[in-house]
Amino acid sequence: MNTSVDPLARAMAILAHDSEHAYEAVVPPIAQTSLFTFSSYAEMEETYRGQKVRPTYTRGLNPTVRLFEEKVAALECGEDAIGFASGMAAIASAVLAFVQPGDRIVCVEHVYPDAYRLFQTYLKRMNVTVDYVDGRDHDAVRRALPGARLFYMESPTSWLMHVHDVATLARVARENGAISIIDNSWASPIFQQPLTLGVDLVVHSASKYIGGHSDVVAGVVVGSGGLIGEIRSRIYPYLGGKLSPFDAWLLLRGLRTLPIRMRAHEAAGLHVARELAKRSDVVAVYHPGLSNGLLDGLQGTSGLFSFEFDGSVDIARFADSLRFFKLGVSWGGHESLVVPAQVVRAQAAGPNSAIDFGVSARVVRLHVGLEGQDVLVADLSQAIREAKMS
Ligand SMILES: *Cc1c(COP(=O)(O)O)cnc(C)c1O
Repeated sequence: MNTSVDPLARAMAILAHDSEHAYEAVVPPIAQTSLFTFSSYAEMEETYRGQKVRPTYTRGLNPTVRLFEEKVAALECGEDAIGFASGMAAIASAVLAFVQPGDRIVCVEHVYPDAYRLFQTYLKRMNVTVDYVDGRDHDAVRRALPGARLFYMESPTSWLMHVHDVATLARVARENGAISIIDNSWASPIFQQPLTLGVDLVVHSASKYIGGHSDVVAGVVVGSGGLIGEIRSRIYPYLGGKLSPFDAWLLLRGLRTLPIRMRAHEAAGLHVARELAKRSDVVAVYHPGLSNGLLDGLQGTSGLFSFEFDGSVDIARFADSLRFFKLGVSWGGHESLVVPAQVVRAQAAGPNSAIDFGVSARVVRLHVGLEGQDVLVADLSQAIREAKMS
């Protein structure tokens, strides 16, 4: 990648216009159809033989979905991409396409909780073992990788926002012959392009920043033509987690404003994090932008981070006293959200990554939305005041 180009300007140029204008409409139409007919027997046979690439059935190829895939591939500096019905469908498909019984995966600690559940339950049943390492400890990664089929990472990680030196870890994976996969949902393609750092495959929960309006659940995998081709031929049509045309259309709309939304989430997120860090009842703020060190491949920060209260605040009362921050999972939309770790630790369905990776019950995760940083800081201050245990 040409690093002299401002990443936001580059993204805006990709996202502002489409190459094709059906009916000369500025917004692409939704090809809301299950199947596509052929004009002749000859064309149908040519398509089945693979001599002609054109849509046949939406589970395989759909023009609206394809437009979304091409945009995300361009943003991530990848050759190809596949859209999925959810981030978990993207993660499961990317992993399952490359493992078989007896294989081993090395995974960083604090991965997304449902990725952890997939690894600890379904993959275990398939006789695929997963070893967890602290991705910040390069020696530990080097010791774990020999013989591994896959290296799975997330940077920053869920909850405690561990930032990894993505380029170094990708190189170590490659030296050991392991395919590297990174969950890039947090940074979005605006603030991190892991393929340019040597990672093999990027997965996104497009339900988060890519969609950006909390109205769609979707996922996408990006990589080289070769690896995406393997996922497409080995696993994609059979697991069937296809992104729908309407959801792809919503994602295309979300993408148009992704660069400016990311800049707004970054500014507000940093401001709220810095204000929290000044408080004596906050013992830690887990935000990758607060340390003075290098961001290890990150070109910016988003609006999702965590912090930790000391013992003086009743966390349930704090959550109930918030007005702008709503209690809710997910993140990446216009709205500010809060999730206390003590709720996640109490979740009935296991295995529980918050407990297994040791996320303290005093930790609270915030998504800083677009309501305005001053009202959000004021909201947190009044809720903490209400929640002080006397
Ligand atoms: C939400 C999320 C996922 C899962 O995505 P879905 O679209 O909800 O299936 C994966 N990784 C991260 C980091 C997430 O936050």
